[in-house]
Amino acid sequence: MPSRTVDVIVLGAGMVGVSAALALQGRGATVTLVDRHGEAADETSFGNAGLVQSEAVIPYTFPRDPAEIANAALNRDPRAHIRYAALPASAQALWQYFQFSNSSRVAETAAAMKPLVFGAADEHRRLAEAAGRSDLLRPTGWIKVWRTAQGEDNARRDVEALKQYDVRVNFLDRDGLMALEPHVGEAGRGGAHFPDPLSTPDPQGLARAYAALFVQRGGRFEKGDAMTLEPAAAGWMVATDAGRVAARDAVIALGPWSNDLARTLGLKLPFFVKRGYHRHYEPRGNAGLGRPVLDLEKGYLVAPMTLGLRLTTGAEFARADDPPSSAHIDRLEPFAREMFPIGEPKEAEPWLGRRPCLPDMRPIVGPFPGKPGLWLDFGHQHLGLTLGPITGRLLAAMMTGETPFLDPAPFRADRFG
Ligand SMILES: Cc1cc2nc3c(=O)[nH]c(=O)nc-3n(C[C@H](O)[C@H](O)[C@H](O)COP(=O)(O)OP(=O)(O)OC[C@H]3O[C@@H](n4cnc5c(N)ncnc54)[C@H](O)[C@@H]3O)c2cc1C
Repeated sequence: MPSRTVDVIVLGAGMVGVSAALALQGRGATVTLVDRHGEAADETSFGNAGLVQSEAVIPYTFPRDPAEIANAALNRDPRAHIRYAALPASAQALWQYFQFSNSSRVAETAAAMKPLVFGAADEHRRLAEAAGRSDLLRPTGWIKVWRTAQGEDNARRDVEALKQYDVRVNFLDRDGLMALEPHVGEAGRGGAHFPDPLSTPDPQGLARAYAALFVQRGGRFEKGDAMTLEPAAAGWMVATDAGRVAARDAVIALGPWSNDLARTLGLKLPFFVKRGYHRHYEPRGNAGLGRPVLDLEKGYLVAPMTLGLRLTTGAEFARADDPPSSAHIDRLEPFAREMFPIGEPKEAEPWLGRRPCLPDMRPIVGPFPGKPGLWLDFGHQHLGLTLGPITGRLLAAMMTGETPFLDPAPFRADRFG
């Protein structure tokens, strides 16, 4: 097969890779996007909850309260699910995650993430408009619903912590909740509505619209295996179904599989995945939801999607390749039936995804240490849909010698020593 040479190869066509490819192209680079699937967003960027979480400046932490940890460890807390066989392999990364979840380190991460999180929605608006699919971004905000006084106290405490960042939130009593979401069941006593975040009814459609924009602007999308990446005379080379592609620069944006390639190339990271499931349900009768709603105390979310009402779970701690299990979603479904107007499930088996995580709850965006021309853009954990476009812009600025719009040091790959 013949070789082709471009400026940049981007490996991985999820929301993160597609966005990086667009940002590089926007700075004049010729870019080839490579994915093992023939189309964009067939993995994690397909199955998420569809929230552009522009309020999520405080990261998703590991619990610090011993009683909460004990409950979770015994699988008594439905917000998480632990597959015990996975623990030895991920113990070290989870221990680091626990350590990074203390208040001072969380504050450091929040300060680093703030410009990314607060800039995320505008970045999406620009891309969706250019792609002619602004309809896929809805100004709905989202709601955290509580069931009990304790849940309300916890929600108010969390919101208090967000006040210093000027995040807008409206507290709703039961009547206020009914005014926004008339089909939420009586289990929902009130909620906190974040009015500013966007939501999409079709996360895959959104990423594919961005990929189509990339191709329309002259980018190439090729099917190929990123694990074939190797150094070449003037940079990097990857094998694709359309032949070998060489480039001065290559970007690893393989989401939960990024660490497989990074490790092969000699980078050791405390990387782990938080798995999560989704399943769609028919709405009951004419009922529905206007926006994504989180059942705060049970730790799952239901979002109105083109494919149905999508229930997404919190974290399952398991090895990335452990076989899927319906245990977590089966456990949550009865709670969801109390709270939401869900009818029959639309799929026999739930979809499984993997949130790519680092213990300090920040992505890696920047150069691969010691490998000129190789770049990293992964580890977006719970926020890859949200942050894909803006981290793409950050990476592209660094790669093209522009002054980045924020200090990239907190996102360096070598920050774990
Ligand atoms: C249940 C759930 C709910 C979520 N909800 C939200 C939400 O509401 N908002 C939010 O912002 N985030 C959410 N997330 C997180 C978000 O979905 C992820 O952070 C994001 O999708 C990661 O995008 P990515 O492009 O890095 O990875 P992916 O979308 O997984 O893309 C990686 C790509 O790499 C490709 N690939 C892998 N290996 C190879 C190889 N060897 N060769 C070639 N290609 C390869 C894959 O085919 C894939 O296309 C959620 C995640 C889950 C699991």
